[in-house]
Amino acid sequence: MSDRVIPLVNELRASLAVPSPALRPWQAGPTLRDALERPLHDLRISVTDRCNFRCSYCMPKEIFNPQYTYLPHSALLTFEEITRAAKSFVALGVQKIRLTGGEPLLRKNLETLIAQLAQLQTPEGRALDITLTTNGSLLARKAQALKDAGLQRVTVSLDGLDDAVFRRMNDVDFPVTDVLKGIEAAQRAGLGPIKVNMVVKRGTNEQEILPMARYFRGTGITLRFIEFMDVGATNGWRMNEVLPSAQVIEILQSQLALAPLQASQSGETAARWGYLNAAGEHDAALGEIGLISSVTQAFCKDCNRARLSTEGQLYLCLFASQGYDLRHYLRGDMPDTELTQAIASIWQHRQDRYSELRSQMPASSELGALGGARRVEMSYIGG
Ligand code: SAM
Ligand code: SF4
Ligand code: SF4
Repeated sequence: MSDRVIPLVNELRASLAVPSPALRPWQAGPTLRDALERPLHDLRISVTDRCNFRCSYCMPKEIFNPQYTYLPHSALLTFEEITRAAKSFVALGVQKIRLTGGEPLLRKNLETLIAQLAQLQTPEGRALDITLTTNGSLLARKAQALKDAGLQRVTVSLDGLDDAVFRRMNDVDFPVTDVLKGIEAAQRAGLGPIKVNMVVKRGTNEQEILPMARYFRGTGITLRFIEFMDVGATNGWRMNEVLPSAQVIEILQSQLALAPLQASQSGETAARWGYLNAAGEHDAALGEIGLISSVTQAFCKDCNRARLSTEGQLYLCLFASQGYDLRHYLRGDMPDTELTQAIASIWQHRQDRYSELRSQMPASSELGALGGARRVEMSYIGG
């Protein structure tokens, strides 16, 4: 591993230097652990910082207006660079890759990238789990091509079934029926099991919780309720707009029979609840829901996710203010083994546990007290 220090990318997004020397030389196999003994299992790759929606909790119109400067095309990692980075991550234990954004389906020829990633194998010779999170607006058109390229599943974001509520939340007047058609197309193409993510904001869409649950119950699609998070610095987050998962489940149980299920794997972000039949047993045909309580119940101790931004910055936490500039390595002449070693070293030093620290602070404390430099936007590193 070289002693190279990665230079600053720009004034706004200063990069961190790769920690050197590595704590322990990395050796092939799933042995890599961060400073808190967490493995590296998931890689989220943002393929664009652009989006055709303006969800107020993510890309509010006042900030992401026509004057907003997005990354120039030359700054974006190419598909070859992304695949090369992914290969190193896979050598270090990554088994699942999620493409995200911005809106990933806006990236031209995304199928080409998917086909390249689908060629990668884990050190044990297994295929990767390749998935994608989308707002669903282009899914009806693209589902079959994505499947043919090697995508296995999709997660679709949908915040309500009521057209007026949904149009207000996406803030570009996009109709709910088009997203539902996208979900149907994904089902027909075999991009399952499909998950649907609903961000719940108190005072905005909590009345959609029950209609959404009823709509997706028994369809094979898992609906997941996400607490409105304080990601980024532009979404005007306030605790009183968070509807805690405990209240979401109360609302659901007032009308629907549900009981908790065991986590299916370590590092799973959602608490699972299964629908019950008349005998009070979980009925697999009715399916399940998930609750993602990023605000009220931190899951940092199992967090095994790394995030690669559109321009090749490696982030170790959704709430990080700085990343590591992997693009500098990817565009240089660094051999693959050195790139892999650099990523291993970064992971070995990882100590991030933002949500856990926040939950230990008195409610009145300023979030900035957590060392709070300006946090990176969700649309830049992906969800
Ligand atoms: N555009 C795609 C989409 O919406 O699915 C992918 C990117 S989006 C940033 C990924 C996920 O982050 C979406 O499910 C979205 O609802 C979620 N998200 C964005 N901002 C959020 C916030 N403040 N709190 C909770 N979830 C958020
Ligand atoms: Fe776009 Fe997804 Fe953010 Fe909504 S959540 S603005 S669809 S990136
Ligand atoms: Fe992972 Fe950071 Fe979220 Fe904790 S706050 S679960 S470390 S992304």
